[in-house]
Amino acid sequence: MLPHTISEIISGLRDKQFSSREITQDYLTRIKRLNPELNCFITITEDLALSQAEQADARRNAGEASILNGVPLAHKDVFCTEGVTTTCGSRMLEKFVPPYESTVTRKFMEAGAVTLGKTNMDEFAMGSSNENSYFGPVRNPWDTERAPGGSSGGSAAAVAAGLCAAATGTDTGGSIRQPAAFCGLTGLKPTYGRVSRLGMVAFASSLDQGGPFARTAEDAALLMNVMAGHDPMDSTSALNPTEDYTSALAQPLTGVTIGLPKEYFSSQLNAELEKALQEAIKVYESLGASFKEVSLPHTELSVPAYYVIAPAECSTNLSRFDGVRYGHRCDNPKDLEDLYQRSRSEGFGDEVKRRILIGTYALSAGYYDAYYRQAQKIRRLIKNDFVSALNEVDALLCPTTPDVAFKLGEKTSDPVQMYLEDIFTIPASLAGLPALGLPCGFKGGLPVGMQLIGNYFTEARLLNLGHQYQLNTDWHKRSPALGE
Ligand code: GLN
Repeated sequence: MLPHTISEIISGLRDKQFSSREITQDYLTRIKRLNPELNCFITITEDLALSQAEQADARRNAGEASILNGVPLAHKDVFCTEGVTTTCGSRMLEKFVPPYESTVTRKFMEAGAVTLGKTNMDEFAMGSSNENSYFGPVRNPWDTERAPGGSSGGSAAAVAAGLCAAATGTDTGGSIRQPAAFCGLTGLKPTYGRVSRLGMVAFASSLDQGGPFARTAEDAALLMNVMAGHDPMDSTSALNPTEDYTSALAQPLTGVTIGLPKEYFSSQLNAELEKALQEAIKVYESLGASFKEVSLPHTELSVPAYYVIAPAECSTNLSRFDGVRYGHRCDNPKDLEDLYQRSRSEGFGDEVKRRILIGTYALSAGYYDAYYRQAQKIRRLIKNDFVSALNEVDALLCPTTPDVAFKLGEKTSDPVQMYLEDIFTIPASLAGLPALGLPCGFKGGLPVGMQLIGNYFTEARLLNLGHQYQLNTDWHKRSPALGE
């Protein structure tokens, strides 16, 4: 049986219960058995993983092991990996082999971690179900008829199915927190700018943020200690010093005040999920936290504002895929116009095209003021709501999703239904705030997630709140059956 958490792997490696090579081989064997059904990985980097593991074992034997030395991880296929295909879930990049390494994956390599492979995702990170991937949908290990969430569905399903101990993801409007909720995991979207975007294929640059998927808040803290920090190569990277995310975990919760945003406990939230959240509130009360109702009055405007801003930014970011410089190129173009048109028509899927069209329209002369500028004004109002609520409390507790994982195919015919899935995750994204998702119950055998939103750069506090909760509950310890 493979270990459950990174912490267990770290101590097993340290105590020589197993080598990195052995555990890496065990994960690869499990991936080969389960990936054909779950479809979590687009690329499995078997040779790379085994050679990294051997190097990690050699470093350990030489007494040079840093904390994540030899720990096998998976990376969302949005992170550029030098010499390893990076598809971003798109036909456009099906054969793209980046000439450089993203800062996030480079930091994990420097920390001695092993890369098992690149995980499946919605095309260019646009989606909430992983059904927009050119490489086919990912199946939720808790119920393979259901979606794992999106866009980082491959990373979430891989961790939940025990195909890796932890993984990276990115969150633009919920793509770490929502799949974490659907798969019963702990996932952190850091403050915008906390984790470098260099080499992360851009979707909506003012929102995109990388972060960890793990089984526990403690593991997420270990990953954040590697991922977070200023990057001189990313002009939007924050200059603030990072914290030691693991040393804050043990802090007691006495005197902590948590806000309950009343707009999130609305009719949109399924009653059983609300009950699970009420139970979580009781756990926090028993740990010394107190609760207070707060209001975020512009919450309902967040989805419409996001679905103007994110497509606007995506339409400009994706204009670089022209069939000339890199990415898919059509066969036998008649002329330059034909080359652009056919390369882009063939390379992009329907959802990406829909968003390019919406974004181009919203940014065009005459409509810019009516749509894009309005959406930016709403974004400011949403941010102000959070700033005043977080003046009164240390963090906010709320649902991550309106309901548990939905069935594959259930929402694909109606994009608006799919967009409404993001109602509870998008507001913190628009405000650029950090938010932690973690499991807090089950409904009909499917995991229920809750969300803790904090003030800017309070990741250590959020992980502390998550860890203290997990010391007193065992939702995060459950695993899907998968024929074992
Ligand atoms: N589901 C949202 C969207 O489709 C968020 C995606 C994300 O966070 N990358 O845009």
